[in-house]
Amino acid sequence: MDLDAVFHDAPAGAKLLGVIGHPLGHTLSPAMHMAAIKRLGLNAVYAKIEVKPDEWDDFLRQAKALPLHGFNVTLPYKEAIAKEARCRDASAYLGSVNTVLNNDGAWEGWSTDGPGFVKDIARCGIDLRDNRIVLLGAGGAARALLFTISFAALNPRKVTLFDTSLPKTQALIDDLKAVWKNPGVPADHKKGVFDVESAGDQERLKEAVRGCDVLINATPAGLKPSDTPAIDFSWLHKNLTVYDLIYHRETELMRAARDIGARAFDGLGMLVSQGALSFEKWFRTVPPADVMLAAAKAGLQNKS
Ligand code: NAP
Repeated sequence: MDLDAVFHDAPAGAKLLGVIGHPLGHTLSPAMHMAAIKRLGLNAVYAKIEVKPDEWDDFLRQAKALPLHGFNVTLPYKEAIAKEARCRDASAYLGSVNTVLNNDGAWEGWSTDGPGFVKDIARCGIDLRDNRIVLLGAGGAARALLFTISFAALNPRKVTLFDTSLPKTQALIDDLKAVWKNPGVPADHKKGVFDVESAGDQERLKEAVRGCDVLINATPAGLKPSDTPAIDFSWLHKNLTVYDLIYHRETELMRAARDIGARAFDGLGMLVSQGALSFEKWFRTVPPADVMLAAAKAGLQNKS
């Protein structure tokens, strides 16, 4: 990994940005951000920066020396970068950052996944207030969503979590409750306290899905057509809204929900929204979301 080589043909004075992660084969971020940069006529370059685990320390050194103006962070570095940046939002409690801005030599960090979700559900007309939510998954994305639902005071009636790992699910709930109880966390960040539980077993998950208003899939189940679904589709009902974070295809879960007359949304809007929020941190301007969405869709088509 050589950042000088990555940006060797950048125009003079250009702001240098990128996405770091490993592996990065699938990322739509360079296409989305370059489309917005071009549309706004900004002097900036956003590149794909593959950082292998043994290159991490070298990346930190080069990124500061270059310097990078800002960057997105994806798997597996979202937690590691949180230790290097001053966390400015719910990322302080998540311990996970996906957006970094170099502010006169000091790195500032945000997690825009959760706010991107909040922005996109508003676009979809989904209001979580007083609703019963089932959140599938207890990994990085589910963690970001759960904390943001609290941080943004979306006030659901109840959130039921289910992940293949029960200890991981319980740990996520415990972490959220620890923030609520922490006297050091500003009251403003604890307005959104709600009933949160682990589904535990399949029987309780079935009851929770049958009784819920919004079902969110934050697991990788559905990335491939051959994946075993996270739930039994016979539990779905027509008054349900399904939001699947998977964004490159209509999953079997989405299709099953639509087939019985329920509403279903994919995660492409969330992907674009989290990217647009990162862009705002770097350029202090709102990017054209329609241009970013079109670039993301074109990127998906090129892959298929
Ligand atoms: P992650 O950290 O690997 O977490 C996924 C969690 O789901 C893991 O705890 C996993 O358990 C669990 N899981 C896997 N299959 C399951 C099943 N059938 N039932 C219940 N739990 C299951 O991944 P992530 O970063 O949170 O991402 C999750 C999904 O969201 C991915 O598909 C990702 O592409 C998508 N995503 C979308 C956006 C967007 O902007 N639209 C943003 C972030 C993520 P194990 O570890 O035991 O497998």
